[in-house]
Amino acid sequence: MHNAYFHYDQPKNEPVLGYAPKSAERIALQKALAEMKSATRDIPMYINGKEVRSGDKHEIRPPHETGHLLGHYHAGTADHVKQAIDAALAARENWAAMPWEHRAGIFLKAAELLATKYRFKMNAATMLGQSKNAYQAEIDSACELIDFLRFNVHFLSKIYNEQPISTPAFHNRMEYRPLEGFVLAVTPFNFTAIGGNLPTAPAMCGNVVVWKPANTQIYSASVFMEILVEAGLPAGVINLVYPPGPVIGDVCFEHPDFAGVHFTGSTGVFQTMWKNIGTNIAKYKSYPRIVGETGGKDFVMVHPSADVDAVAANLARGAFEYQGQKCSAASRAYLPSNIADAIKTKLVAELKTMKMGPVDDFTNFINAVIDEKAFNSITKYIDGVKNSNGQASILYGGSYDKSKGWFIEPTVIEAKSTDYVTLCEEIFGPVLTIYTYDADKWMDILDTVDHTSGYALTGAIFAQDREAIEYMTRKLVNAAGNFYINDKPTGAVVGQQPFGGARASGTNDKAGSLLNLYRWLSARTIKETYVPVTNYRYPFHQAD
Ligand code: NAD
Repeated sequence: MHNAYFHYDQPKNEPVLGYAPKSAERIALQKALAEMKSATRDIPMYINGKEVRSGDKHEIRPPHETGHLLGHYHAGTADHVKQAIDAALAARENWAAMPWEHRAGIFLKAAELLATKYRFKMNAATMLGQSKNAYQAEIDSACELIDFLRFNVHFLSKIYNEQPISTPAFHNRMEYRPLEGFVLAVTPFNFTAIGGNLPTAPAMCGNVVVWKPANTQIYSASVFMEILVEAGLPAGVINLVYPPGPVIGDVCFEHPDFAGVHFTGSTGVFQTMWKNIGTNIAKYKSYPRIVGETGGKDFVMVHPSADVDAVAANLARGAFEYQGQKCSAASRAYLPSNIADAIKTKLVAELKTMKMGPVDDFTNFINAVIDEKAFNSITKYIDGVKNSNGQASILYGGSYDKSKGWFIEPTVIEAKSTDYVTLCEEIFGPVLTIYTYDADKWMDILDTVDHTSGYALTGAIFAQDREAIEYMTRKLVNAAGNFYINDKPTGAVVGQQPFGGARASGTNDKAGSLLNLYRWLSARTIKETYVPVTNYRYPFHQAD
């Protein structure tokens, strides 16, 4: 029985550990890496709180060490998806009715388990399964996921506190109900934190969820599921399944209780989902919520007044951290002719110092791309430069090697025209394309920056001239959902830079913010009148 309002104060962002040589965290992480590598994991699905093994086993290997076997996952079928939906719907009533402080307690406990007992196991799983270096794993699978859990509890508490006005004669109140049905979470390979946030944000709001991660993220996703179970998540609230992508869509989008999809991944897949949902719209009990964060072709616009060192350093980090496999990665840069040579010289000098190799050697800044499909797609763009008839050239890098893992050197392409293919299409790998424009005509290039691609996810401008900063910020108002001034376009932090883009980049519902949580709620307004009228008449229609 409730007899108090509970507070969930604004949390602080989880501190990022440094992993310097001989630090306690480095030793602990190295131990976790060795332990995980010495065992082969047999990874089940989780349906209705039970581990489900289909027997259809698929290998998991580190992208940077394809000769090593990490384990297997059990692939799912349409039948497993149906079981997951049934389990979710059966769990719905009790979960939706659970008082908020008990639901919140589960996710705050999961955050604390992740920050302490599971931190190094989770980071090691992300490093091995997705080929992230120690720092990239720490900011993703530890800090960002902890932040998502803690901040969402705080934000949802704020929403629950938002109430309409009342008078002495009646009480108005809003109940923030979960959606009527189940939510499907479909998550990408590149962030363990997104994998964790997409099912937990709707679940926190009282929804029940079917979660399908990318096959290449199952290794770390299953560790998060272990954490949720240990934190006390009731059976059936989040069901983790591994069917092929089209299968999950076919089953879920046909179901009358489908209430929403929380997606992050490529634009093409999201558009297919949207079409299928539209085709089935008459079947559903409610209008489904469609939330998707998708691709990007993120820009860096450099003004003639920019600081050369700052541009070079931020291009090096923004384009090549995690091998450019961030939706926010800088992938096209527009350099003014007055400083273009100086930036290129500095950037190339920086790139020469970046070591590439496996994740367990902490001196490697660059690791492998996620899988063979990505390797083939990225290297095709690099090979295309050689056949471009002088339209483009390789300024740095361009070599690749798949003998031990999916390794592609950080590569900088110089394009001669603004519509060269690598300036327009999302490549999702360690490839940056630069274009040099006439510094005297910097205002003219802004239209190109704005309209070269259909995406509008992230973008950065570099300048020291304040009038230019103001002008570019205004002119590029719709070019990016996350806009950076004198900083790289990557590295958004929960609570600090709510993340998401518009145009073809998604519905811009800003993961890890109030805006996102509203999408998983369906408010009921209640008016309670204390002393009801007993006569229909008003004064105005009485005779004079
Ligand atoms: P992807 O689209 O290939 O896969 C995403 C998920 O969709 C996976 O779980 C996949 O199995 C599933 N899927 C594939 N086909 C499906 C279908 N027909 N029906 C239902 N599900 C299907 O993306 P990815 O390669 O995992 O991730 C890279 C992409 O994600 C890039 O385009 C990147 O820009 C984008 N991304 C965007 C953000 C953002 O916040 N905007 C963040 C991370 C990644």
